[in-house]
Amino acid sequence: MKQESLVLALDIGGTKISMAVITPRGKLLAGGVCPTHVKEGVAAVIERLCRATEEFLEQSGLERSGLAAIGIACAGGIDSARGVVVTPSPNLPDWSDVPLADIIGKKFGVAAFLVNDASAAALGEHRYGAGKGVKNLVLFTMGTGIGGGVIADGRLYLGAVGGAGELGHMTIEAAGPKCGCGNTGCLEMLASGRAVERDAINRLRRGEKSHLYDMTKGKIKNITAQMVGQAARGGDPLALDVISRAAYYLGIGMVNIVNIFNPEMVILGGGMAELGDMLLGPGRRMVEERAFSVSSRAVRILTARLGNEAGVYGAAAYALAQVRRSK
Ligand SMILES: [Zn+2]
Repeated sequence: MKQESLVLALDIGGTKISMAVITPRGKLLAGGVCPTHVKEGVAAVIERLCRATEEFLEQSGLERSGLAAIGIACAGGIDSARGVVVTPSPNLPDWSDVPLADIIGKKFGVAAFLVNDASAAALGEHRYGAGKGVKNLVLFTMGTGIGGGVIADGRLYLGAVGGAGELGHMTIEAAGPKCGCGNTGCLEMLASGRAVERDAINRLRRGEKSHLYDMTKGKIKNITAQMVGQAARGGDPLALDVISRAAYYLGIGMVNIVNIFNPEMVILGGGMAELGDMLLGPGRRMVEERAFSVSSRAVRILTARLGNEAGVYGAAAYALAQVRRSK
């Protein structure tokens, strides 16, 4: 394999930055991670990111001059055509109007391309993961918040300026809880990890009984979505109820998505996807019951395959597609 066809992929999140060198066929040759330390500010994070990437390339024994492109996945509102982080995400609060593709591209002397991290995850699963060979798919990334990405007719659908796929912010209950985006009743407020934590904590505060109380030794504010999942797996009625409520709302979101996009596949990624059928089962049933039958019959609903690496795989795929298009 000639090195000229390799892509350096970066995935910038609120707590860590993943780095990888990936072949066009999707083989990950080297991978690394460095902390984001977001509180240090944008310039400091980018500087450390560049240093860590240089060290990473050196350790991998790969010449940066030989790379075909750099793909960058980043949280936030991204203008992919200009390679700019336009609006910040809650995880990267100060990142607005950051011309990230330009900065990184100039630093390494290689063309760099920027894409939203959830869109990248969708592209990663499409090219190299659960959605390989599928033409139309929608990915929900279910973590602390909810993101999403859409592949339409074999290509990443970005919308007018790269803002498409914000599945976490479709309105599910107009009078529901207030969301960080300024709206109320977004899916993210009803089905995300944060929503699950909030619901469990509120119910314990109201005096309901649950094994979660013992798991946190009475410090119920320390409840995490992972703990709720664990308690639910152990049969804890309150935890099961909290998860099934989140699954119900996710199901409504899926019905909307299936009716709008008629995808062959809906993929669930992110930490919450570990709940598997506990989260997917109700969604599948609701799609069967509520979506248009022509679409519900055509769709498979399943969990992602690439785990935390979906972002770097997708960033690499995005960069490669841009390079090929420009040739
Ligand atoms: Zn919202």
